[in-house]
Amino acid sequence: MLGKIIFISGPSGVGKGTVISALRDRHPEWIFPPSCTTRDPRPGEKEGETYFYISREEFEKRIEEGAFLEYAEVHHGNLYGTLKAPLIDGVEQGKIVVREFDVQGFEQARERLSRDYYFSIFIKPAEDIETLVRRIRERDGTISDEEIERRVESMKKELSLEHLYDATVISVDEEIDRMIEDTEKIIAEKVGR
Ligand code: 5GP
Repeated sequence: MLGKIIFISGPSGVGKGTVISALRDRHPEWIFPPSCTTRDPRPGEKEGETYFYISREEFEKRIEEGAFLEYAEVHHGNLYGTLKAPLIDGVEQGKIVVREFDVQGFEQARERLSRDYYFSIFIKPAEDIETLVRRIRERDGTISDEEIERRVESMKKELSLEHLYDATVISVDEEIDRMIEDTEKIIAEKVGR
């Protein structure tokens, strides 16, 4: 039986990372494949944990080979991408493969994957954008107006694409355990795990 890739997206600050790391602790049988990047490892980062660190030349070679499900030039001119093979192999071995994506990554990936290979979950803030902006400012008093503007634009874009996803989990800061449970419940009910 085929497994499933579970794509998880949502604007920054909704607790995606926390949900995914809880799933990782609770489901050692699930796969959480690393990304590839051309940036250098930071102190303490290990090869193959969050990333495979490869040269730009190697990355470009793999793009040409069609090895990526999606990739993007993120910041400081570095390339980041998701290799197709570990995800497809996991599904074909009947496994659950969990992958965090921004909406652009998800839009690229869904076009390159057979519909029965994935299920997608959107994590959506319970609050409106104004409240989120106020919270960002409270947390980081030094953040510039330009940076706020950039985040608001990216949040608006992310929120407008919720309809592309198969299911939604509502994010509330104090309810991280409920969010983890909701995510597990959705995977159990819709994917049968
Ligand atoms: P960092 O260099 O701080 O680890 O990551 C910077 C950014 O790269 C984050 O915004 C993250 O979302 C993005 N990123 C990490 N892995 C991937 C990937 O596989 N594909 C894409 N498109 N972006 C990624």
